[in-house]
Amino acid sequence: TTGKLKFKRVLLKLSGEAFAGDARGLIDIPTIRGITHQIKNLISMGVQVSVVVGAGNIWRGATVAKDGIDRVTADYAGMLATVINALALQDLLEKDGVSTRTQSAITVQQVAEPFIRRRAIRHLEKGRVVIFAGGTGNPYMTTDTAAALRAIEIEAQVLLMAKNRVDGVYNADPLKHPEAVKFDRLTHLEALNKRLKVMDATALSLCLENKLPIIVFDMTAPGNLERTVTGDAVGTLITS
Ligand code: UDP
Repeated sequence: TTGKLKFKRVLLKLSGEAFAGDARGLIDIPTIRGITHQIKNLISMGVQVSVVVGAGNIWRGATVAKDGIDRVTADYAGMLATVINALALQDLLEKDGVSTRTQSAITVQQVAEPFIRRRAIRHLEKGRVVIFAGGTGNPYMTTDTAAALRAIEIEAQVLLMAKNRVDGVYNADPLKHPEAVKFDRLTHLEALNKRLKVMDATALSLCLENKLPIIVFDMTAPGNLERTVTGDAVGTLITS
């Protein structure tokens, strides 16, 4: 049923944290299964789903660079790390009966297609989940920026920023300040000017300039992902 869908094509950003769960390891399979079930529900609702994966659970370029590895090299390693998360997600989605394609911004032709925009759109139209790996393919960038960029390129109607610890955008970090207040709605400009922790400024500017709505929400709560596409109130909605 596509009757009550507010968004037909979405881009879901999963940070590396989403793959680790509360476990100590890099990747927690039951946690990823929780994600694949929710994505499967979206597909059965008739939504076209693309995903950008991060890699903070494995490697963060800026952190590693501080410890002495060349920044650009560290960033390329970070981009490669996203491929690991993408492969794990792809495999578990397929085991859940969801058809997928992975496209990488960095050539890893044995395991993923290269990013080809028109081909990605074609996959989406055929009901396949398209997983974008490799970030933007450029150092000094983040997978949040990749998410904004890909969302705009494939004409997604909304960027879904999945979070694991918070359920939206607050005026202060709610994990440190219990009195922090959550915003139900914001404009891109407010989020930028108030320097709210939505995503990095490069990513947010791209969304602002291209009027791409963003929903920041808690992906660990069952049913929340579905709520984002039906227009039900969930998390924080950022529009222009
Ligand atoms: N990265 C990069 N260019 C990109 C995307 C990612 O260089 O376009 C590197 C960067 O080193 C980053 C790492 O890959 O720290 C992992 O991505 P990110 O930190 O965005 O992952 P997340 O925070 O979403 O888990």
